[in-house]
Amino acid sequence: MEYDFTYLTNIVNPFFAMQIYNTLTRRKETFEPLHPWKVGLYACGVTVYDDCHLGHARSCVAFEVMVRHLRRRGYEVTWVRNYTDIDDKIIRRAQETGAAWDAVAQRYIASFKEDMAALGVPPAQIEPLATEHIPEMLEIIRVLVEKGFAYQGAPGGDVYFRVGKFPGYGKLSGQSLEDIQAGARLEIDPHKEDPLDFVLWKASKPEEPAWPSPWGPGRPGWHIECSAMSMKYLGETLDLHGGGLDLIFPHHENELAQSEAATGKPFVRYWLHHGLLTIDQEKMSKSLGNFFTIKEVLAKFHPEVVRFFLINSHYRSPLDFSDAALREAEAALLRLYTTLGKLEDLKKQFPDISGPVPADFFSGVLTADEIARLRALPERFAAAMDDDFNTAQALGYMFEAVRLVNRLLEHPSAEPGFVAFLAEVRRNLVDLGYVLNLLQSDPREMLATLRQKAEDLQISTEEIERLIAERSAARKNKDWARADAIRKELLERGILLEDTPQGTIWRVKT
Ligand SMILES: [Zn+2]
Repeated sequence: MEYDFTYLTNIVNPFFAMQIYNTLTRRKETFEPLHPWKVGLYACGVTVYDDCHLGHARSCVAFEVMVRHLRRRGYEVTWVRNYTDIDDKIIRRAQETGAAWDAVAQRYIASFKEDMAALGVPPAQIEPLATEHIPEMLEIIRVLVEKGFAYQGAPGGDVYFRVGKFPGYGKLSGQSLEDIQAGARLEIDPHKEDPLDFVLWKASKPEEPAWPSPWGPGRPGWHIECSAMSMKYLGETLDLHGGGLDLIFPHHENELAQSEAATGKPFVRYWLHHGLLTIDQEKMSKSLGNFFTIKEVLAKFHPEVVRFFLINSHYRSPLDFSDAALREAEAALLRLYTTLGKLEDLKKQFPDISGPVPADFFSGVLTADEIARLRALPERFAAAMDDDFNTAQALGYMFEAVRLVNRLLEHPSAEPGFVAFLAEVRRNLVDLGYVLNLLQSDPREMLATLRQKAEDLQISTEEIERLIAERSAARKNKDWARADAIRKELLERGILLEDTPQGTIWRVKT
């Protein structure tokens, strides 16, 4: 397991207390994992039936940053992020395209991995596939049936969870059964005892993928997947479980009910939900048709700019996407790197200088309070992150530091104290940037790339797709010269192609 002890050597007071907003209790709570210094986090992953949109990137980056901060605080974190690789949408996609359902899933798992690699999001420790955990799901369903929490609606038919038997139903989303009955458009299903009951196991229709079970051939419902995979890897009580706000009901409410009904133990200690990405204040989603894929956004903006945009707001706030917002993020990141570049130059100019800074050294340029704030950057940053992962505040402190550094740089000096002080600030900025997975590139190269990227990539996704299709046709006709020419043209325009058994995928060269 990975540890990152850097803060621990920095902080004056090692008795930090992290506060995490818990959806279940609707307030911030002091974080105490079940086992000292070990944390299990399960974040709901994607349903792999299409390319991911920027909302998925927000989710992955938010949990990645939480994991990075927890590790830096010294926790051993096991991060699990699943793939839902069997689902109505996957089956529909397979029927529409004539591909096998599992080929569809594999293709979009590959696409997701490409997107994450491009964004610099490392893989989770465990990335389970739903279809590889059918026995674990069947075991939970068996226990639920045995305890009277589940029933089969008709011989060979669907198996349902008996919502009315679980007293805590509605506690996560803060609704009573009456609220839910009134709020949901419930279909009347003659096989269900109660319209609120939800499916655990779906009997397969002919031509659909099916697994054998004591209730006949079928496939799992969505909610049972996450209960099975999270408890398998993290135990019956998880420290942290999260996803987007839109998963609170019904997905997480149902997960909670079926898991606690099966084990008799609390399922999750802290429920984390991030805000949704909107376009013009409307939720970005496939079903609404207003979305940008990660690939589309990366075709226009550097991955680090996209990351910056995603974490420059608190994870629980809504985040509104626009080209203008991304351009603002680009300008802000340029500011950070510009100052880092200057500090880097200073270090190159005076590589071996160290020494104490006389107390009155900066008088006239910065006040004593400003100097103290600059010195305390690591502690202030850590405190912001301890406060429910407040990345917006943490970045705010970094920008304040950069503004103060810029003022110092207007009065350059070759004094050892001056150089040593700024070298320390530079180290802190890069080191804290690591927690956010920002500022880890060489400033000169990054500045050149960011500027070039803004001018160069005048290519639309449609044009890329069109050229890929043209290249595939050329390859089919064994017109290798034309195929190579298209690959070269795209490369010159910043697009890398990779041929996989599932087809050609593309990404933006970084
Ligand atoms: Zn889930």
